[in-house]
Amino acid sequence: MEEMPVYFGDVQISQDYSNLKQTLYAKWKDAVPGAYNQELTAQQREQQQKKLLTALDKFITQSDDPSSILNNLKAADDPPLYCGRALRNGEPTYSCRDCALDPTCVLCMQCFHLSGHKTHKYRVEINTSGGSGYCDCGDVDAWKTAPACSQHDKANLATKQDPEARLPEDIKRRAEVLIDVVLQHCYTVLVRQEYNRPLSELDNSSASKTSSNCFCVMLLNDEIHTYDQVIERLEKAVHCTRKEGVEYATTVDREGRTPVYRGPRSNCQKISSAIQEKFSSSDKKILEALIMHETVVAHQEFALSLLRWLEHLLEYSDGVRRVFCRVAMSPRGNTQSLVEDILLSDTLFWKATRQQFHQLFMTGVFKDVENKTLFAILFTKHYGAIYEKFVRDDHYRIASATVVTVQIYTVTTIVKVLIEKHHLIEVILRTILKESEKWKNERGILSFQRRRIAKDYDIFKKVQFALNDLKYALSSALPGLQWSTDMKKSFLAGFSTFLELFSQIQGMDGMKRFTTQHIEIEPEWETAFNIQLKSHDCIALLLRWCSSNTEILFDVYSTVLQHLVKLRDVSTCQITVAQHTVDCCMFEVGGTESYTSIHLPLHRMLAGLNNYLPEGVNFLSPQFAPLNKRMDLADLLEYPLRVLVLLAQVQADMWKRNGYSILNQIYYYQFVKCRQEMYDRDIQLLQAIAALMDPNSFIIHLLHKFNIASVFQQEEPLFSSLSVKLMTTLIDEFLHLLIIILGERYVEGVGEVTRDEIIQREIIHLLAINRMSHSDLDKNLPEDPNLETNLESNVQKVAEFQRTAASKGMYSLTDECRSQFNSCFYHYNKSDQSKAEDYQRLHRKNSGLDQALPIPSPPRWCSRYAAISKLYTCDVMLYLIHTLLGNMVAKRSKLKSESHTERVLHLITLALHNDKQACLAGDKSLAFVKAAQSYYGASDYHSARLNERFSIHDLLNKCVSSPHVTHEPIKDLLQYVLKYFVSVAEVEFEAAAQSSKTASPADDLFQQQAARDRQRRLNKAAKSRSKLLDKMAKMQRKFLLDSKDLFEECSNEAESQLKAASSLMDISSLDDTADPVALGLHQTPSHSHVDNFVCILCQGASTINDDSTIVYAALIQRSSVLSRKDTQAPEGTSVTMLFTPADLRSGVFTSTCGHPMHASCWKRYHENAVAKEQARAQRAFLGWRIPLFDIEKGEFYCPLCESIANAVLPVLPSVQKFQPSLPVSASVSEVTLTDWLKVLTQLSNAGVASAAVEEHCPFPDLARQAADTVFSQLMGLYDYIAALNETVLSEEMSGMVTKYLLSTYSVFKGVKVSPLEALEEKDLGPVIWNTTAYTIQVTEHLLRSDGKPLFGHLTQREEMCIMLLVRFASICRKVLPQSVVGLHCKTLLQGLLLPHPTQPNQFREILDIMSNNCILDIDVWHYLVSLVFALPSLFASRTHLIPTGSVNEQYLLHVLLSLHMTQIMLGSIPSESKSPVVNQPSSSATATQPEEDTNMDTEEDNSCKLIQVYMRIHASIGIVKPQSAPSARQLQTHIINASLPFLRCAALLFANLTDVPAPPALHALSDPPEEYAIISRYLAIPASPSELFIDEVVEILVNKCSDMRVQQRFSQGRWPLMVVEYPLKVNTLVKLPSDFSELINSASLFMCPNSMGSDESRTPTLCLICGEMLCSQSYCCQVEMPGFRSGSKDNSIGAASHHAIKCGNGSCMFLRVRQCQVVLLSGHNKGCFLPAPYVDDYGESDVQLKRGNPLHLCSTAYRDLHRLWLSHGIQQRVARSVIASSGHLLAEWFHL
Ligand SMILES: [Zn+2]
Ligand SMILES: [Zn+2]
Ligand SMILES: [Zn+2]
Ligand SMILES: [Zn+2]
Ligand SMILES: [Zn+2]
Ligand SMILES: [Zn+2]
Ligand SMILES: [Zn+2]
Repeated sequence: MEEMPVYFGDVQISQDYSNLKQTLYAKWKDAVPGAYNQELTAQQREQQQKKLLTALDKFITQSDDPSSILNNLKAADDPPLYCGRALRNGEPTYSCRDCALDPTCVLCMQCFHLSGHKTHKYRVEINTSGGSGYCDCGDVDAWKTAPACSQHDKANLATKQDPEARLPEDIKRRAEVLIDVVLQHCYTVLVRQEYNRPLSELDNSSASKTSSNCFCVMLLNDEIHTYDQVIERLEKAVHCTRKEGVEYATTVDREGRTPVYRGPRSNCQKISSAIQEKFSSSDKKILEALIMHETVVAHQEFALSLLRWLEHLLEYSDGVRRVFCRVAMSPRGNTQSLVEDILLSDTLFWKATRQQFHQLFMTGVFKDVENKTLFAILFTKHYGAIYEKFVRDDHYRIASATVVTVQIYTVTTIVKVLIEKHHLIEVILRTILKESEKWKNERGILSFQRRRIAKDYDIFKKVQFALNDLKYALSSALPGLQWSTDMKKSFLAGFSTFLELFSQIQGMDGMKRFTTQHIEIEPEWETAFNIQLKSHDCIALLLRWCSSNTEILFDVYSTVLQHLVKLRDVSTCQITVAQHTVDCCMFEVGGTESYTSIHLPLHRMLAGLNNYLPEGVNFLSPQFAPLNKRMDLADLLEYPLRVLVLLAQVQADMWKRNGYSILNQIYYYQFVKCRQEMYDRDIQLLQAIAALMDPNSFIIHLLHKFNIASVFQQEEPLFSSLSVKLMTTLIDEFLHLLIIILGERYVEGVGEVTRDEIIQREIIHLLAINRMSHSDLDKNLPEDPNLETNLESNVQKVAEFQRTAASKGMYSLTDECRSQFNSCFYHYNKSDQSKAEDYQRLHRKNSGLDQALPIPSPPRWCSRYAAISKLYTCDVMLYLIHTLLGNMVAKRSKLKSESHTERVLHLITLALHNDKQACLAGDKSLAFVKAAQSYYGASDYHSARLNERFSIHDLLNKCVSSPHVTHEPIKDLLQYVLKYFVSVAEVEFEAAAQSSKTASPADDLFQQQAARDRQRRLNKAAKSRSKLLDKMAKMQRKFLLDSKDLFEECSNEAESQLKAASSLMDISSLDDTADPVALGLHQTPSHSHVDNFVCILCQGASTINDDSTIVYAALIQRSSVLSRKDTQAPEGTSVTMLFTPADLRSGVFTSTCGHPMHASCWKRYHENAVAKEQARAQRAFLGWRIPLFDIEKGEFYCPLCESIANAVLPVLPSVQKFQPSLPVSASVSEVTLTDWLKVLTQLSNAGVASAAVEEHCPFPDLARQAADTVFSQLMGLYDYIAALNETVLSEEMSGMVTKYLLSTYSVFKGVKVSPLEALEEKDLGPVIWNTTAYTIQVTEHLLRSDGKPLFGHLTQREEMCIMLLVRFASICRKVLPQSVVGLHCKTLLQGLLLPHPTQPNQFREILDIMSNNCILDIDVWHYLVSLVFALPSLFASRTHLIPTGSVNEQYLLHVLLSLHMTQIMLGSIPSESKSPVVNQPSSSATATQPEEDTNMDTEEDNSCKLIQVYMRIHASIGIVKPQSAPSARQLQTHIINASLPFLRCAALLFANLTDVPAPPALHALSDPPEEYAIISRYLAIPASPSELFIDEVVEILVNKCSDMRVQQRFSQGRWPLMVVEYPLKVNTLVKLPSDFSELINSASLFMCPNSMGSDESRTPTLCLICGEMLCSQSYCCQVEMPGFRSGSKDNSIGAASHHAIKCGNGSCMFLRVRQCQVVLLSGHNKGCFLPAPYVDDYGESDVQLKRGNPLHLCSTAYRDLHRLWLSHGIQQRVARSVIASSGHLLAEWFHL
């Protein structure tokens, strides 16, 4: 069949495709520079670039519609066997603790939710692999069970057909040649280092006009210079703005390079050298900037998009993908494959290119095992070279080719091949050895002294990443390991290389003891431990490998011995103790010229191997000849013993002149992550040697090395150079070591224990120190790469878990397990030990037990170690015991120590345990018991000293009565040992009976002893208790002063008690029969009580009636917590002080901590504090510090509780006291609402008419003209009172009142206002009215949100705050100019009573203020409060009247409540009258039922009237027939529900204004109708809503509704969007998903809004208030805010800081999703972190997701956050954290 001709565009391609490359180049030569021409628009460029790529698709398919053909290919593929989805940065990944073969096996979110692991123990992490991570779903090598999710579990559907065979032959052929050409081209263009001109084949310079402007400066990325350095340099070099600089820096960091200048070559040269200038002489590296030809840049950029195109193409078909693998990985002629070329050139590419290549490997090569293996082999072949380039490169690992190792070295089948055939282990280690070479000293040991740490030290640090690869390889190849000949050979070679590395570490960082002066330079020690930490898992894995084959094991053991033989120290001396003489190594630890090193990896390797040797084989066995002839056991013992002696000497403070380095080393030596392969191995080696060596020699070696042999040598001990104290400590440490050698067996291969028992013992000893949370436990347990810790199941066996809802859960030890506590546990440091002993003794005490801590019987030795037991009865041991006990009994002995006795007792107990164990096993010789009864000392000396011959047993008995044994626990221990001795001595006869019982018989004896001792102790305790109480009382006083936070808690408690008492009082003092009435003519007489205060500063008492002014520290803050963000305010609604918009977009909230101070005392305190802070600020120039408080804003801290405050609120006397309401005259009582309205309307009309004539308060004059009888009655009421009683404020008081007015005003305006200009400010009054209204409204919301009744449940400080604010708002009128308040009053009345002006020129003033706000846009509650405080000015021009709760207030409430109900009726009415009021009991419907029955008629009437009103109101806005008119009942219920918050606020206001106590019923929760009834009675308004609507009122309402603007709203159909729905719901924080990983996932999809969708945000941050996601802490989203950062010329702040200003008036709450952390921001540059409200099953949060346990929303914690926000606690919380850090926090919060 004749082949069809093939075309590229319109060029025909030859049969053999030989002209394809030419054709492509001919096209690209002109088209590529054209498509990247900077003169085109971005859109044009994109179009042209796309065309170039589509041409390639068209070529492959030979079709004009390539996508349909490609999609067909895709459809023909087998369903994917595994997911392999590339994981985005920041997206959640899931791994299964039960089933994943290693932690690198992860699932994507979709697969996880479809997988079986959901019910397992899984972990969640945030993917940070930078796009190199893949979902392992379906990979059978990755999972023990359930390898695929339900979506990918389709293995059986696969056709097993070769994917390439499925590909049409012609497409396959074309794909092959095209991929070859394209990939080759990309590599050539991208790797090219010549930037002046393009490849000659692509050079079009002759054709195009050679412009001189065709060069650019390309800035390159490195990971050394900071953003700021780069930006600063660019600002100078290319004269860009800071914003542009930020953009360049961001791009260069993300992409790896960016052009920063285009122009002629000469300019480029100048700029490039300006950029490349060194920052300082010590600069490690210059900022690189290349000069590149534009055409070169264009071709490189195009090559990058070709790679993307290629990646996309491969996804279409498995067949094409395999073609790609073949092309990319086969050798080309004699040269290596393209993949190898690319890998080896990795560091020559810029970041984006590297990542694109890696991406291509992932999609192209890693999808099937054959190709992945092939790739892995190629990679391993060049492993060394790739690493060599990577470590010298200045990019992070994530941007390097080495990042793929986690993909290839974790696959079992691949790794086995690599190790067996390609020597992977050796390859990896050789790579490290190559770099370590230059760090070796003359003895061949690594040395990193500080002076040598230079830039190439980083290289050595980076090469250690290779140890991770080794770990992957060793652990992945382990399952099903087969030892073929090749495998053995390769492994042994690898192991030898490993030992080569170890022999470079053996003896590293040897230390000499400083004895006279302190060390000058702390030596470097970190590197050795870093290698140790990194190789820790490798060692454990290598041991595992060795243990699986005896032949290998023996071979390896010999190799280690070969290394050790070289280390022999041959100098010896003879030591004799108890007539045994031993040749000991001379070396003295801590001697003046001896160096001791902690690093003995070779010895420790041997110790590890020891445990796996077969039965009967040991160091001395012939298998290891002749090596064991060239060194003996003593040589083996020497080095680990030195380290343990060093440890003892450090404990004895002998090394204190050596500084911190030695302390750090000792710490890490025993640190949980290191000790398994360090300290533990040293102990094991000593144990192994003890089992083989002559016991006497063993102990003498120890004595000698501890330098204490002399004590046991002479008759009269000579204390060489060491003091008695030192000697005592060293003997302690020596005995401790003996106890450990004899007692510690919880290691597999050492004692007969299981893995679980080992873990349980660790847990027991951790919990013996204290209770612990799950995470702390997890952190402190050792990890083993071979085995799971099984923390869960093990901890359940030994501990109880307790958790309360609010706090994290804690484990505590079960009582059964306490008996297993051993105070000499070898993983305890000294402080752990004493903490644990104290804790356990306390527990024993509380359970009435004695103080001895019994020593548990250890498990049996493994047979290899069993011979250690001979130590107990050897001469030297018995002699030691005898001597040390003898010391305690002897009259004169310098070495008398109870701690020695304690340890000796411990040793004896172990010996007795041993006898007993032997006995139970059938050996009834009771070796130790007999020896102890018959041993009388080695010489006669001691007996002579004691005048008698005593056995050890005798000495024990003598100790009981020795005056030198005073310590209670030791006495108890002594008793315990004696009893136990007896019981073991008799065990011979009981053995048979006891054989089944494993518990120590001593425990029973113990109980009896305990009972006897108990009484004695109780008596003693009673005596000491009374002493203690006195002492505690003293301490408490001091404590309170010291710890204010704690005081705060105490006082809270006291406060609530106080409140309980006072609220009880309120109720009881009431008249039982009549409910109180707060307003109107029938006002209940107020409840007067004298306020007493104690000034917290001078402790002087004071009452409200004194001359001295009392103030409270108050915090005034702008707030938006009530804002209706869901309601979009109509455009143009204006915020004025008098008319608060209905959406409550912003307000001013006031709070106080409730601590009274004299105004004069406070002034002194404040001046002092300001002076101090100023001095501190001056000192602070040395370090960047946050000011503790902002002096400019008048901030200070409460001297008692350290709450932050910015004002002082004066305490004013009660309004009633100020202006007592007098008995109302009869004439006044006749004023009806109708009359009252008539008068006010007249006044308003008159006022408006004459406004132009008389500017200032025209009412009184006009009123006189009106001459209305009713009016004069009203006037009479006020005049009468005023005339009788005008109290004048004291000068100090009015000063403080003015000050507070200004403080509030300043916060509202956001600027400091000077007193002089501000008093003239007309908004001063309205600001106070507003904050009063707002604070009450917030309080009502808080109570509602907490589900608490209106009264009696506020804290005292909240109650106090409202009371003082209300008093202040009414009385502050006395300092405000009467005329201004009068004007406000007039405006408010006109807005309420007059119809909306129809002619624009009429009523100009109202128009100005209300121009855009109609009834729908105003918050009626604020309106009411303003009117209440403004109205009195209407009636008196001469005096300053204040509201008292008279008829005026009553009628105002009546009218405004009906206005509010009109708003409600204009909103939507829920069809089912389910009450939206929170916490309303569900029984409401049934509760109202009976009432309805009895009042059926009136109810019906009322409802009908309501409907009529409803219809009239709707008619007035032009809606004659509302579409869905509610039923009368619905309407009534809804109105009651919806108006209730308003009424509750009113009740709070008037209760505080009038001091009439609230009815008791309001102290409890009730149904809305009931609550409505109670409040209406209390406030003297009609009981039914319908009664509010008398004709005159309806008239007013209809007036308001016929407002044109209201009509417009409804006619335009925008309704109800713009109407705030009532009742106002309590604002909540954003609803968060229950599963935290969902949140991570949605955050990972969030793209930085400023990076054109190209980049995910690194710190996605969720505003918890409005739900907006932000790109925080990133240059890309910074915003300029001039003046925000005081003292800095840089005005840019982070996205979150900026959002906080917009969203929360500066105080805002965010969730940093990836950090799993809440951040509070407040004010300028202040903030603090809190844990996110997500916890794991143990109730713990997980900041930074370090543990990875699945997290779920903790509703309690989230509710607390909500309350913190709603109660305006953010600023306070942040201030506390600033104080707690004393301003040392260096965090630059504005960057967030
Ligand atoms: Zn997946
Ligand atoms: Zn899947
Ligand atoms: Zn699982
Ligand atoms: Zn005072
Ligand atoms: Zn306070
Ligand atoms: Zn951003
Ligand atoms: Zn927000």
